[in-house]
Amino acid sequence: MDEPLIERMRSYGETIFAEMTRLATETKSVNLGQGFPDTDGPRSLLEGANRYVLEGVNQYPPGPGRPELREAVARYRSRRHGIDLDPETQVYITVGATGGIAASLLSLVEPGDEVVVFEPMYDSYAAVISLAGGVRKPVPLRRDDTTGRFTFDPAELNAAVGPRTRVVMVNTPHNPTGAVFDASELEEIAKVCREHDLIAVTDEVYEFLTFDGAPHVPLATLPGMAERTLSISSVGKTFAVTGWKTGWVMGPEPLVRAARTVNQFLTFSANGALQMAIADAFENEEKWVEQQRDALQRKRDRLAEGLVETGFDVRPCEGTYFLMADIRPLGYSDGEDLARALPREAGVAAVPAKVFYDHEEEGAHLLRFAFCKQDEVLDEAVARLRRWHSDRT
Ligand SMILES: *Cc1c(COP(=O)(O)O)cnc(C)c1O
Repeated sequence: MDEPLIERMRSYGETIFAEMTRLATETKSVNLGQGFPDTDGPRSLLEGANRYVLEGVNQYPPGPGRPELREAVARYRSRRHGIDLDPETQVYITVGATGGIAASLLSLVEPGDEVVVFEPMYDSYAAVISLAGGVRKPVPLRRDDTTGRFTFDPAELNAAVGPRTRVVMVNTPHNPTGAVFDASELEEIAKVCREHDLIAVTDEVYEFLTFDGAPHVPLATLPGMAERTLSISSVGKTFAVTGWKTGWVMGPEPLVRAARTVNQFLTFSANGALQMAIADAFENEEKWVEQQRDALQRKRDRLAEGLVETGFDVRPCEGTYFLMADIRPLGYSDGEDLARALPREAGVAAVPAKVFYDHEEEGAHLLRFAFCKQDEVLDEAVARLRRWHSDRT
């Protein structure tokens, strides 16, 4: 049989995460590749899920999601950011942020439309834009000479926008770089959206996980942006339950309605009992989230220090589960080769940042490490890397 897969999806084979996880298992490596915590979320959240299941919340939830969760989402966005959302029409529950991203882009992007994305980018954006028949216009995030932060050149952002541009996709806090866009970066993005009448789709799954007091500012709070921004978040990263795959799409009614129209036929709805438990957690477990954030900040420092001592050039990280390390001081230039070698040679797995870029050369020298792991796991990874490095030199 000829290749049955539609042509525009043929370049998307097995994801690097699956490959690295397999390699990590085969070699019994410490896996700092995929970004999932190795400890559980708050006890009350887990018990809540258990209780709601046993109480019989086991049939289809309403298509837009359980009202309890839509109301809880509207309340936390109001409490934290002063955003006013009608839980009936402006909050819509999806199967993870991934489901929200897919429904949003598939409902907004016509074949041939262009989508501006910052690279490196989360892997599902590229695939869904292709699925929609859209065209990616990547704007690189590069090292700022003074701060070392990843940032973009506003001129490159402007140059990426043309007559076919429909959507700007914005992820902050940003995976994989750990960058949190500041007020001036967000204003540059907002200006471009307003000037060219573009829709912004934002991925804010790490909205609670910023470090050193860096504020997370939703793009929707900037002047003129509320009416043109579809914001997406989810429970997985905030409450350390990445397997729960429950997310939400928030914004003006016409944009939410667009995503909803498509999503009715993708997944329709999911996870009623979990939605109930998550709604309770947003009311009762904000302290847990703050402690989790502080613990993650300490883990970032712990891993960063170990990687620096090994010889990596570790880049600043302002949020998320990840940090990026430059491998060139260790005498390597291709992160993909090194990521494939490390499990066997050192017993540690990481992800080559190259896979998050369209212009692969921009990220060829970077590895992404996840620090959302127990301290002993991070320490073991660092000890192995240091042994590996000293054996080589
Ligand atoms: C983990 C992650 C997602 C996926 O979120 P789910 O709720 O698990 O679907 C989306 N975007 C980014 C940037 C992520 O890191």
